[in-house]
Amino acid sequence: MRNAVVLGAGIGGLLAAGALSRHFEQVVVLDRDQIPDTPVSRVGVPQGPQVHAVMKRGELAIENILPGFRGRLAAAGGTSLRVGLDFRVFEGGGWHPRRDLGFTLSSQTRALLEQVIRERLLANGNVTLRQRQRFRGLTSTAGGVVTGVAFEGEGAEEISADLVIDAMGRGSPIPDWLARNGYGEAPSVATGIDLYYSTILFHVPERWRGEPWCLVLRATAPDQVRGATVVSIEDDRWLLSMVSRFDDRPPTTVPDCLTFLEGLESPEIYERIRHAEPAAKARRFHIPESRVRFFERMPGYPRGLLPLGDVIGTFNPLLAQGMSIAAIHAETLGETLIKNVDAAGGLDLDGLASDYMPAVSALSHRAWSTGAYVDHLYPRTGGERPANFEAYHHFRKALRRAMEADPEIHRRAIRVAQMLDPSSVLPRDRILAEFGSEGA
Ligand SMILES: Cc1cc2nc3c(=O)[nH]c(=O)nc-3n(C[C@H](O)[C@H](O)[C@H](O)COP(=O)(O)OP(=O)(O)OC[C@H]3O[C@@H](n4cnc5c(N)ncnc54)[C@H](O)[C@@H]3O)c2cc1C
Repeated sequence: MRNAVVLGAGIGGLLAAGALSRHFEQVVVLDRDQIPDTPVSRVGVPQGPQVHAVMKRGELAIENILPGFRGRLAAAGGTSLRVGLDFRVFEGGGWHPRRDLGFTLSSQTRALLEQVIRERLLANGNVTLRQRQRFRGLTSTAGGVVTGVAFEGEGAEEISADLVIDAMGRGSPIPDWLARNGYGEAPSVATGIDLYYSTILFHVPERWRGEPWCLVLRATAPDQVRGATVVSIEDDRWLLSMVSRFDDRPPTTVPDCLTFLEGLESPEIYERIRHAEPAAKARRFHIPESRVRFFERMPGYPRGLLPLGDVIGTFNPLLAQGMSIAAIHAETLGETLIKNVDAAGGLDLDGLASDYMPAVSALSHRAWSTGAYVDHLYPRTGGERPANFEAYHHFRKALRRAMEADPEIHRRAIRVAQMLDPSSVLPRDRILAEFGSEGA
């Protein structure tokens, strides 16, 4: 196969290009942004300055697509955190027990992560990145097979492609383009989360240099709405994201930030941040909703076009799923390509779409639902409550108690949360029997 075009050079687009580069002679990645040479935030990814954690499963998927990625990230300043020891979570009114859970996570800014992925990708000689190119439309045959992409940068241009990937993120213009061109609209489900992030960068005070850590404080719903995450990142800095919902906005000045942190359910984050000097001004971001689109249910979705990453689903960012889900989408793309290329190198577009689309949509729907269960603990959340909401939360409470008492259940629960294992590894019946009542 000759050419593939990827629209969007975010995390999903870069990883899709990595998966495609094993199968296509040439892969071209187009983005509207000027892509920086250094790890700084860019306009096309406005959520980029907020805390962006990669799950362990996401890290493994990236390494699988771009071997050598993890070593390069560590060399570029990614900080290794021992889960359960340096990386700790406050949930359900208390901190998870302090235990070594047997694996590490890497922490860094989203900009550094993207830069390392980009540099590693471009070492694959058949991938080209074209910046400052804005999507204009798709070109297709009368039979609805996509033949290429029209875009505008310095001039208007077209590029032909055997396969086009839409990885233009939450604001992708393709759903509108499809509607305007008679393809219809993808059915979708949404949760009105009305969540606010505010993020401030700090210099690490001298006494804490060389001690990487991450604290995630999740608000105890429905009484509390305020939470925060603080994490060590490259160049001796801490990144603090404060979150809240509805009418309550997280602060944007350092004095208000200290008041916000002092009032949280646990003082740990405040105790560190009050000694730190800010390194940059606060950046705020509003997330009105989380949504999953089911493109595979559109009768006329064009052949030769596949969606990936946030185009399919945007999630409650508090669960840190989006980039890892995009990475698993890209991994799935690679696997389904292997299945649908014949011995002569021909690509079965129908087979590819029917293997890829339901798989990635189910993955995004699962991730979206996990957030919906948490969000609907707040009565003001918009959208429909999941059907088995009460049973789900009864089990979550029992699991939280079991994690305190049983190190093996704790280890398994965190591996499930990091998407390393399926939830079937948790002994559900035993957890409910032993820890299902309040006094257990
Ligand atoms: C506040 C917040 C915090 C988050 N925290 C986390 C976290 O902790 N962990 C996590 O895993 N995820 C997190 N996410 C989600 C994460 O940001 C996304 O899931 C992830 O970036 C999706 O990658 P993507 O490649 O699909 O889209 P994006 O990364 O958004 O990339 C889209 C790309 O398309 C380009 N583009 C857009 N329109 C056009 C156009 N018309 N023409 C050409 N190019 C175009 C953009 O410039 C951009 O480069 C968070 C999100 C938010 C809002």
